[in-house]
Amino acid sequence: MSTYSGRSDRRAVVVGAGIAGVTAAIALRQRGWQVEVLERAATMEAAGSGLSLWPNGLRGLDAIGVGAGVREQSLAATEGGIRDTAGRWLARTDIAELRHRYGDLVVIHRTRLSEILRAALGAAPRFGCEVEAVESIAGGVRVRHSSGTTEADLVLGADGINSTTRTALWPRERPPIYAGYTAWRTIVTPVEPVHSGGETLGRGQRVGIAPLRDGRVYLFATANLPAGQRCPGDELGEIRRRFGTWHDPVPALLDAADPETILRHDIYELPPLRTFVRGRVVLLGDAAHAMTPNLGQGANLAVEDAVTLAALLDRIPDLPAALTEYDRVRRARVQPLARQSHRMGAALQLDWPAVTPVRNSLLRLVPDAAALRALGPILAWGPPA
Ligand SMILES: Cc1cc2nc3c(=O)[nH]c(=O)nc-3n(C[C@H](O)[C@H](O)[C@H](O)COP(=O)(O)OP(=O)(O)OC[C@H]3O[C@@H](n4cnc5c(N)ncnc54)[C@H](O)[C@@H]3O)c2cc1C
Repeated sequence: MSTYSGRSDRRAVVVGAGIAGVTAAIALRQRGWQVEVLERAATMEAAGSGLSLWPNGLRGLDAIGVGAGVREQSLAATEGGIRDTAGRWLARTDIAELRHRYGDLVVIHRTRLSEILRAALGAAPRFGCEVEAVESIAGGVRVRHSSGTTEADLVLGADGINSTTRTALWPRERPPIYAGYTAWRTIVTPVEPVHSGGETLGRGQRVGIAPLRDGRVYLFATANLPAGQRCPGDELGEIRRRFGTWHDPVPALLDAADPETILRHDIYELPPLRTFVRGRVVLLGDAAHAMTPNLGQGANLAVEDAVTLAALLDRIPDLPAALTEYDRVRRARVQPLARQSHRMGAALQLDWPAVTPVRNSLLRLVPDAAALRALGPILAWGPPA
C-alpha cells in the first residue's frame, strides 16, 4: 500500500459508481490520483428517468470537462412553475431570467448522463464488486469486498442512501427516515409533442412533467402513502386513478405510458451527520446527505461534493487537513438545503382539505422575482478555485 507522502502515488478507492462516485473518480484521476471504483451492480445502468441539472451542478460538470457534452444531450428548460389540478398557474419561474442570472437549467435522461460520465472516466469501474466492510488501518484504509481486499490512502463512500461505508464507520448515526410519500417515475413517448414542463399540486399528491431532448417526456408523481405499499403489476393503474383527470397533457401522457417502465421508490432522507469524514474515509452524495427530491438538487450536490473534494485535495497538501476542510464547507452547504427540501415537501404534500386552498393562495401571492431571488444562494455555487 502506498502512503500519502508523495503526490504521484496517491491511491483512492471509490465505493459506488453513481453520479457522486464517477464524478469524483474523474476529478481525482484528472489530478493524478490512481483511482479504483468498486460497484456492486453488474453494469452501469442508470434508472430510466430524467434529472434536472441546475447551474450549480452544470458548473461542477464543466469543471471535469463534461458540461458541454451534457448540455448537448439535454433539453434546456423553457417554462417552469407550479399549477393547480385544473392547470391554472399558482407560481411561475422565469426561466429566461434564471438563465441570465445564474446559468443553464436543463433536463437530461439519466442514461445519457451516465454514458457521458462513463466515457470521461476511462478505465471502467469494477462491476459486480460489493463492498462489505471498510476499516481504518495504520496510514490508510482497508476495503473488504466480494472480490477480496483493497487498501488505499483514501476511501470515498459514494454508495448511496443505504451506504455500507457509512454504516461501517458511522455506526451511531441514525438511519434514513421515511419522508411520508412515495414517488413514481417514467419516460413517456407522447402522441402529441409536449413543449412545456412544470409541477401540479393536488391534495397530498402531485405530478410533474419535463420534456427531454429526444421528444420524450419525463413524468414523475408523488403521493402520501405508507412506506412499502405497492400495487404489483398495476403501478400505472394507480397513477392513472390519481392523476388521470388532471389538466392536459397529464391524462394523454398517462395513456401513452408503458406500464413496464414505471419506477416506484419511497422517499427517504438521511438525518444530518455530525461529520462527513472519519480518518481517511469521506462520504459524498446521497451517502452523506440523501434528501427529499423537492429541490431537484441531490445529484447536483453530489457533483459539487465530488469536484470540491478533488480541488481541496489538490490545494491542501496535508490529506487530513483537506478532508477537514471538505467536511466544513460541504456540511455548511448541503445540510441547510436538505432542511429546505424537507420543508418544501411538507408544503407541497399537504393533504388537509381546509389547508390546501390556503397554501395555493399563498403561492399565488409570492412574486415570481422573489422566488427567483430565493434560488440565488443555491444556484450561484461554483467550484473552489
Ligand atoms: C424521485 C426522485 C427524483 C429525483 N430528481 C432529481 C433531480 O431532478 N435532480 C437531482 O439533482 N437529483 C434528483 N434526485 C436525487 C438524485 O437521484 C440522487 O441524489 C443522486 O442520484 C445520488 O447519487 P449518488 O451517486 O450519491 O448515489 P446513487 O445514485 O445511489 O449511487 C450509489 C451507487 O453505489 C452502489 N453501491 C451501493 N452500495 C454498494 C456497495 N456496498 N458496494 C459497491 N457499490 C455499492 C450502487 O449500486 C450505486 O451504483 C431525485 C431522487 C429521487 C428519488
